[in-house]
Amino acid sequence: MTATVARSEWDTEERRELRALVRRFTEREIVPSLAEWEDAGAMPRALHRRAGELGLLSLGFPEAAGGEGGHLDSAVATEELILAGGSSGVVAGLFTHGIAAPHIALHGSPELVDRFVRPTLRGELIGSLGITEPGTGSDVAGITTRAVRDGDDYVVTGAKTFITSGTRADFVTTAVRTGGPGHRGISLLVIETDRPGVHRTALRKMGWHCSDTATISLDEVRVPASNLVGAEGSGFRQIMERFGSERLSLAVQAYATAQRCVELTIAWATQRETFGAPLSTRQVVRHRIAQMARRASVARVYVRDVFERWEAGEDVVTELAMAKNQAVEACDWVVNEAVQLHGGAGYLHGVEVERHYRDARILGIGGGTNEIMDEVIASRLGLD
Ligand SMILES: Cc1cc2nc3c(=O)[nH]c(=O)nc-3n(C[C@H](O)[C@H](O)[C@H](O)COP(=O)(O)OP(=O)(O)OC[C@H]3O[C@@H](n4cnc5c(N)ncnc54)[C@H](O)[C@@H]3O)c2cc1C
Repeated sequence: MTATVARSEWDTEERRELRALVRRFTEREIVPSLAEWEDAGAMPRALHRRAGELGLLSLGFPEAAGGEGGHLDSAVATEELILAGGSSGVVAGLFTHGIAAPHIALHGSPELVDRFVRPTLRGELIGSLGITEPGTGSDVAGITTRAVRDGDDYVVTGAKTFITSGTRADFVTTAVRTGGPGHRGISLLVIETDRPGVHRTALRKMGWHCSDTATISLDEVRVPASNLVGAEGSGFRQIMERFGSERLSLAVQAYATAQRCVELTIAWATQRETFGAPLSTRQVVRHRIAQMARRASVARVYVRDVFERWEAGEDVVTELAMAKNQAVEACDWVVNEAVQLHGGAGYLHGVEVERHYRDARILGIGGGTNEIMDEVIASRLGLD
């Protein structure tokens, strides 16, 4: 018997086992119910508990906060969840803690870690990240939600919008203004959603239907000052610190979605017959699928390379922005062609490529838009 040799960091024995675990979980516990959750507009809490039991929510979190494994493990889980028939919408809703909890794990007090991070990694709590407001999205430094100190509390007033998992969240890691204008006046405060003055409204979207999204208004919400994450005024730095992993996760979702659509289209084109022969025998179709596969592969190789360098601590701010845009561009192109090659079937609700087509549209908007990524690149190229 030949010994199995890891071909890359992404393909070690442990990561192959992780892939197998995620594939089983996705095929058995997600795929059969996904259409129902898409129509319901949210996923059940029980799914978080199950993912917690399997250790999938702990990936990428420090051991000191109840985590295990590195960011690469969490990327492997994301890839496999999509390749096994899940979706970026499932990743967004089930792994929201990946954007909501790291700040607390890294900069929060031990008490905050015990109250919010550990139970979230066990799947017992759901967290959200509240940065975007009705008046500002890309310009994070422009947020206006205000937290005014009053004794041992802050009193918070403002609104957050487009908040992933916002209708189900037990707590929101919220960007608030505790100081003057600009980025130095921003802090992060954990706000429990059962506090008086928190009101939530569900938003309907083009895609990511199984991932609930909310506008959260905060009307003089009294929050203990001990819920502050890190020092006052450190919020913007903490947010920027975490943008790297969010952007990489979205890039992984993009190339994995593209790869899944390549596979679905190959399966379709080999069995669908037109004019007496399978679609896969037509040169124009074969070449289109070859191009889809090429774009998905090139995006995967580039994003994985940047991912490894980022995890090793290299300064890859420019490459990270390039990776996100490259993967999103590949994904947008591939999902469009996948729908096209499925013909009318590709336009039907419930057909997998239709879902990926709608879900993919957010990847170039969330976590820093395509334009903001280009701004980052231009600035690092010395064009300021
Ligand atoms: C489904 C979904 C889930 C989301 N989840 C969350 C979440 O969990 N938490 C959270 O805080 N936010 C979340 N967001 C918000 C998301 O991060 C923002 O939508 C995004 O950052 C863009 O902000 P905006 O919508 O305000 O657009 P704007 O900033 O108003 O931008 C509008 C357009 O102008 C372009 N633009 C802006 N500034 C410039 C510039 N200087 N130069 C050139 N072009 C520019 C943008 O690229 C975009 O095309 C979510 C959004 C969606 C749709």
